[in-house]
Amino acid sequence: MTFNTHGLVCAHHHLYSSLARGMPTGESAVDFLSILKTVWWRLDVALDLDIIYWSAALGAAEAVLSGTTAIIDHHESPNAIEGSLDAIAAGCALVGVRTNLCYGVTDRWNDRSTLLTDGEQPRSMTDGARRGLLECDRYLSTGATGMVGVHASFTCSDETIEAAADLAIRHDTGVHVHVAEGQADSRAASRLKDFASDKWLLAHCVNLDQELSGTIVHNARSNMNNGVGYAHPASRSNLVVLGTDGIGGDMQEESRIAYARLRESDVTQTPETVWRWLQNAEKIFPQVANDTVTWNYDHMDSPWHTAFTTSNNAVDVTINNKTVVANSMLVTCDLVEIRSKAAEAAQRLFERL
Ligand SMILES: [Zn+2]
Repeated sequence: MTFNTHGLVCAHHHLYSSLARGMPTGESAVDFLSILKTVWWRLDVALDLDIIYWSAALGAAEAVLSGTTAIIDHHESPNAIEGSLDAIAAGCALVGVRTNLCYGVTDRWNDRSTLLTDGEQPRSMTDGARRGLLECDRYLSTGATGMVGVHASFTCSDETIEAAADLAIRHDTGVHVHVAEGQADSRAASRLKDFASDKWLLAHCVNLDQELSGTIVHNARSNMNNGVGYAHPASRSNLVVLGTDGIGGDMQEESRIAYARLRESDVTQTPETVWRWLQNAEKIFPQVANDTVTWNYDHMDSPWHTAFTTSNNAVDVTINNKTVVANSMLVTCDLVEIRSKAAEAAQRLFERL
């Protein structure tokens, strides 16, 4: 029995989606690809550095208040590429949470700012992808913790995928990429298999049709929300970790949802499977062993208790011996100010949509 755990890790986040909540709806989406087009690709082109900063601060604050001390983020802002990773890092530094950042390159917008037609594979690297790779290169060259981001193979040319893989090797890191999340990306494994390594972070892998090297990030709730089907992570030989795909940063909640979805698929499974996925994150973000979360619940070392306890909240959080949360309140910064600035930024963002 213990009240304490190490810091938790969100292994696949999109901090810019913190401000997407309540965004005006466009035409209604009918499948995964149209969700990307009507929500996320509408939103990301409207981001600027100030909006990115406040959305990161808000997402980081909400994460650490849930006991998550490290965020692995995947970011895209096609009209604010240069400096975007510094803006996210600064927003997270205000709160004091650990980060691993990347810019997710894509060729989905050609050099005339026209969106790729469905089923079309980009033939060569676009200017946007080139600038995204430069942003990753610049950020990683400062010594910051990060990866090289790729949106997904279906929106990238072979040239871009190969350049991203090479850049990751040069920085001794991996590529963070969406893999086979929906049917539109069902050829992901064959496009990526010549480049992937154990350092790669593979988000989703719902329709993965062959082995691919890397750690799989399972995002149970996001997959259900997008109606893409179950990823069956327990059947994979890869290391599996958990992410939220931008729906908050509460990893206890995410792991309970992942458990319910696992049991729906196979009632013989136990909470130990999802517990392992949650703990595996320390293998890819070992610094969280230096962080302590004290919870309002005393069975935090028990998979069978935590899987069924929906009210275990973080009370105190220290990151590298520095107090960030005390008595369930942020002490490093002013949450009221972050919420208010984020609300102003969201208003500006929504007016552009
Ligand atoms: Zn994602």
